[in-house]
Amino acid sequence: MYAHRWHSGDAIELPVGKAVCVGRNYAEHARELNNPIPEQPLLFHKPASAFCELAGQLSLTRATLHFETELALLIGAPLTASSDDPWTAVTAVSLALDLTDRELQLELKQAGHPWERAKAFDGALPLGPWLPIAQMPAQMGDWSYRLELNGALRQHGQIRQMLCPPAQLLRLILQDFSLSPGDVVLTGTPAGVGVLSNGDQLLFKLDDTDWQLHSQVGVAGS
Ligand code: ZN
Repeated sequence: MYAHRWHSGDAIELPVGKAVCVGRNYAEHARELNNPIPEQPLLFHKPASAFCELAGQLSLTRATLHFETELALLIGAPLTASSDDPWTAVTAVSLALDLTDRELQLELKQAGHPWERAKAFDGALPLGPWLPIAQMPAQMGDWSYRLELNGALRQHGQIRQMLCPPAQLLRLILQDFSLSPGDVVLTGTPAGVGVLSNGDQLLFKLDDTDWQLHSQVGVAGS
């Protein structure tokens, strides 16, 4: 059962809420999937039942699961559309996988249906432990992160490449959805997404911090 915890190993006294996610927040990623760049960021949810541990063994529960490495924000205080400075409610940062059943997502998109079955299923949000925001580089514009897949750099995200940077994204989310302590915001994936295969070794890093995490893809139930 997933529970929020610090990078140091200590428990975080916050419930596990929902995740609000953004699609196509990096132009290069929109292009790699032949998607137009939206004028307004495209928002969707993952429920608490989608949360699971990113560290250690990842189960391949579906054949066409794509990894999308994303910077995640942990909300520590209630936020609504009238909150003055929403960014002050963000207490910690981590990396997450926005796991996506890409074939099913394409089917659903073509049929004009919502994406939930392809992106919000049980286990669709593996999430790492949280690093207090004070331990991130002082300038948010300098934040970056990476996924090394089987020893090779595969995804490299930089705040500077985001079409809608985090503070602006929070404001936009709050126009429709209030956020509660324990909720999570995912900020979109950079280019380089792909299908997960059995035995894949994944190394996640928040650049210029001591946060890093290793995962391995294994067969469900083995
Ligand atoms: Zn995503």
